[in-house]
Amino acid sequence: MTAKTPQLGTLGVARPVTDDWDWQLSSACRDLDSAVFFHPERERGAEKDAREQRAKRICEACPVIAECRRWALATREPYGVWGGLSVADRAEILQDVDRSGARCRARRSGG
Ligand code: SF4
Repeated sequence: MTAKTPQLGTLGVARPVTDDWDWQLSSACRDLDSAVFFHPERERGAEKDAREQRAKRICEACPVIAECRRWALATREPYGVWGGLSVADRAEILQDVDRSGARCRARRSGG
C-alpha cells in the first residue's frame, strides 16, 4: 500500500502523514500477505471472487474496518480490497455519491 498526499488539517496546514495511517497499526491484515487483498496479473472470474471473499472475511474481523473503508472511499483507492469493499463495491458506492452530489448541485443552482 502506498502513502497518499497528506490531507489538510483544520488550519489548512498539512497534517503529519502518520495521522492518516495510525489506524493501520491495529489492522487485521498488518502482517498478512498483501496478495490476498490485491489481485495478481491475469486473475479473473471464480479465482478472483474467491480471493476477494477471503480478503473480505479478514476485513469483517478487523477492528479498524470503518477507518479503512473511509480512507479507501475518500482517496478513491483504485486497487484492492479495503474495508471489506472490493474495487467494484467501492465504484458502486462512489457512483451513488457522485450522482447525489450532482443532484444537490443542480438543485442549488436552480437546475
Ligand atoms: S479492513 Fe481489511 S484491508 Fe482494511 S485494515 Fe482491516 S483487514 Fe486490512
